[in-house]
Parts: sequence; C-alpha cells; structure tokens
Amino acid sequence: MNNESLEDACKKLVSVLNPEWETNPDMKETPLRIAKMYASFFRNEDTTQYFSKRFPTKNKELVILKNIECFGMCPHHLTPVIYNVHIGYIPRGWAIGLSKLARIAIALCSYPKLQENFTSEVANVINDNLKPRGVIVVVEGIHNCIRCRGVEKLSTCITSEIRGVFINHPETKQEFISLISLNNY
Ligand SMILES: [Zn+2]
Repeated sequence: MNNESLEDACKKLVSVLNPEWETNPDMKETPLRIAKMYASFFRNEDTTQYFSKRFPTKNKELVILKNIECFGMCPHHLTPVIYNVHIGYIPRGWAIGLSKLARIAIALCSYPKLQENFTSEVANVINDNLKPRGVIVVVEGIHNCIRCRGVEKLSTCITSEIRGVFINHPETKQEFISLISLNNY
C-alpha cells in the first residue's frame, strides 16, 4: 500500500468534511492518523506460519479456545467490528499451540471482509492445514455500522461454520455450544 497516496486521499476527505481543518489544532494531524488507522486494517497476513510447529496428541475430543477478542473492519462501511471468536477442533493425531488459534483469528480479520466470510476462512485454514477430525467456529460480532449509524442499535451478529465430524454429529456441535456457554474462570 502506498502510504503517501493514502495520506493524500485522507487529506482530501478531511478537507471536504471540514475546509478549515488545517487551522483546527485538533485536526491538524487527522489525515495522517486516519491513514495509519486504515493501513492497520488492510493487512493481508499469512496464516500458514502458525502450523509449522505441531505437537503429537492422542486426544480425540474437543479442544476449544473461546472468547478470542479481535478487531476487524466492515467492507461495506469501513467501520470497526469487535469480534468474540470461539474455535473448537477434534485432533487427528496433531495439535497446534493454543495461542496459534488466537493468532489465526486475529490474522484473518486483518483485512475488511464480511463476518460470514471471516468465519468460513477461520474454519477452512484450520481444516486445510491441520486436517483434524472436525472444526467448529462461532463468531459474535458487534458492528459499529449498525450500532452508530443506520438502525443505531446495540446488537450482536452470530455466525458459525462446521467441518468434518461436526457435520454428521449434531451432539458434538451441541457439546461445543454448551462448553463455550460455560462461565469463564
Ligand atoms: Zn457495515
């Protein structure tokens, strides 16, 4: 991404919104700040690195990392979305570090995309790279484009994806839902 043209574009935007911006001490550096903020939400991160270290495991039950907080951006309005991501998988001989599950979710919301597609990408990346018995991903999203404009209501969008054994075993999916619903400690 060309940072100079991004800052120029942000200057144009701010100038249209407030022609007096340069004389306003609070807005003098606003175009630069906006440019930095957008640049930080338009990264394309590689997730294959998180599968380079694997650990053998005989576990054949659910491994869950829940309440992974991460931030993305809505591609329709370019406004921030706050995500709470829950990931579960059933190993097929191999596990990855639990923090890697969080890193995968954070990496995949580093570019504006629909929550629906973000959820699918998390499931696909784990399914394709780790090849577990099954993967389930549930994402809760608070969209500022809904909260601060439009209907202006605090609401939560929930999306999910399943792969592998979860497709034919609704009881395994239900077990995941019960476990992520338990109180944190
Ligand atoms: Zn939106």
